[in-house]
Amino acid sequence: MKASQFLISTLKEAPSDAEVVSHQLMMRGGFIKRLSAGIYNYMPMGLRVIRKIEAIIREEMVAAGAVELLMPVVQPAELWQESGRFQKYGPELLRLKDRHQRDFVIQPTSEEVITDIARQELRSYRALPKNFFHIQTKFRDERRPRFGVMRGREFTMKDAYSFDRDVEAAGRSYQQMFDAYTRIFGRMGLTFRAVAADNGSIGGVRSHEFQVIADTGEDAIVYCPTSGYAANIEMAEALAPTAPRAAPAADLVKTPTPGRSTCEDVAAFLGVPLHSTVKSIVLATDALDAAGAPVGTTIWLLLLRGDHSLNEIKVGKLEGLQGGFRFATSAEIEATFGCKPGYLGPIGIPPSVRIVADRSVAPMSDFVCGANDADFHYTGANWGRDVAEPTLVADIRNVVAGDPSPDVAGPLAMQRGIEVGHVFLLGTFYSQKMNATFLDEAGKPQLMQMGCYGIGVTRLLGAAIEQNHDERGMIWPRALAPFEVVICPIGFDRSDAVKSAATTLHDELAAAGIDVILDDRGERPGAMFADWELIGVPLRIVISDRGLRDGLVEVQGRRDAAATSQPAPNVAAFVK
Ligand code: ATP
Ligand code: MG
Ligand code: MG
Ligand code: MG
Repeated sequence: MKASQFLISTLKEAPSDAEVVSHQLMMRGGFIKRLSAGIYNYMPMGLRVIRKIEAIIREEMVAAGAVELLMPVVQPAELWQESGRFQKYGPELLRLKDRHQRDFVIQPTSEEVITDIARQELRSYRALPKNFFHIQTKFRDERRPRFGVMRGREFTMKDAYSFDRDVEAAGRSYQQMFDAYTRIFGRMGLTFRAVAADNGSIGGVRSHEFQVIADTGEDAIVYCPTSGYAANIEMAEALAPTAPRAAPAADLVKTPTPGRSTCEDVAAFLGVPLHSTVKSIVLATDALDAAGAPVGTTIWLLLLRGDHSLNEIKVGKLEGLQGGFRFATSAEIEATFGCKPGYLGPIGIPPSVRIVADRSVAPMSDFVCGANDADFHYTGANWGRDVAEPTLVADIRNVVAGDPSPDVAGPLAMQRGIEVGHVFLLGTFYSQKMNATFLDEAGKPQLMQMGCYGIGVTRLLGAAIEQNHDERGMIWPRALAPFEVVICPIGFDRSDAVKSAATTLHDELAAAGIDVILDDRGERPGAMFADWELIGVPLRIVISDRGLRDGLVEVQGRRDAAATSQPAPNVAAFVK
């Protein structure tokens, strides 16, 4: 590919609505272009990554025995009425009418349509098991589309659906998908964790989310480094024992209502009006020490909205100032704020952990914290927009000392994650409602056991960047890179030697099946290098007259501090 033929469209600054780094870099690198809230054009550069993501998913799904088909984006409401989801789904489901006033939906997933196919096509036990998948556009009218393609309204999902004759067989299908997902995200070079998740209203027995680990992730994960236990926060909470807690220490000034604190509790505890914003929170480190929390312990701060719904979670570490709060000893707190630290005792927090709110500063719309305001000023990512709304600081938990499951062997830690995949045993939820049966050996109709398995194809684009970037731009793992190699000739338009060496190398690499792009735009080296660092191509080859005089070209990996010189004839072999 020649850069002059392709569309390279980079920006120095990200638009102001881009909150997280992946969104900013994708906008700056010309990977996506906003059309409407949560609706994006996938530009040529971004689409190349999406196609690579899809190819890996497709390969592994087929290897795991799944069969590809394609179901429509627009689906008749009748099927959705059969399952009950037409009424139940809520405002995320986009409903529309055709010219005959018939109801349709734009699919957020395809359980109904695939169950309709299965009840017609899979009549006998001999046809089972089957697993169908497609990679298709979805629409969910998200309450708050944000982070670019990570929470879009229109997005691409791979969704697969398994059909089995009994629970054991369905469990095997589930495991096959679980293993396939592990291979898929591994091949993409991502750091991820499979976590137990709640099955919600659908019931069933098993569900796991695949979470890409990233500080900017919207989900909270609880895990045990020793036993391997991992769950999302909702699941961990559902399993948490309601053991009685030790009484708070005598010097604590206030104790909110035992059990889970409400917004009112917290507001009263902090001594601030409901719907105000607190400037900072200080945790008493001596109390944490007493609770046996080692340096590096992760502390969680949850913000609740006025209506008690969970708003945001921010992580901090015991080693120092971080996140939306800071640490001090009880004595320092008293000296600074003129009050003793108090005990806030919602679930999961050791009773000896104490906090004090810094009430010396007037409420403000930004959440500012740290030793001085310059240290931490949250205007973007996880905070800015949220705390501009009526918000309360509500709930601190330290799960290190908690024990949210019967099978957890060691202490727990928390991380943030981006949900990129979800595997789900559905049981007979849909087959029962839609009468999807097959005939067993005795000729008796039996309900099919189902599973569903989603991967957020376009969300992965953002998740991969969240994990792989630096101050200069994206750093693509080779498996996902829009181009694996960029050839940057210095003086392409001026030097025949450079032009010919660059073109020859380009043709050779392209013939060897390598995704190579030759930057023939005639840009100055600084601007040219900045573009490719922003775009994050893993390998750059610089060809110049000076190098060619010694028979050398420069090769530099995107993560390398410096380039190495290679004899020109060896480069193709090196790259392959
Ligand atoms: P979330 O909790 O992030 O809203 P979900 O649990 O609603 O996701 P699922 O119904 O499990 O999503 O869908 C399967 C996958 O589709 C998710 O794991 C995620 O990767 C992806 N996905 C869901 N919603 C979106 C969205 N709005 N934009 C991009 N990808 C999405
Ligand atoms: Mg959702
Ligand atoms: Mg989810
Ligand atoms: Mg999910």
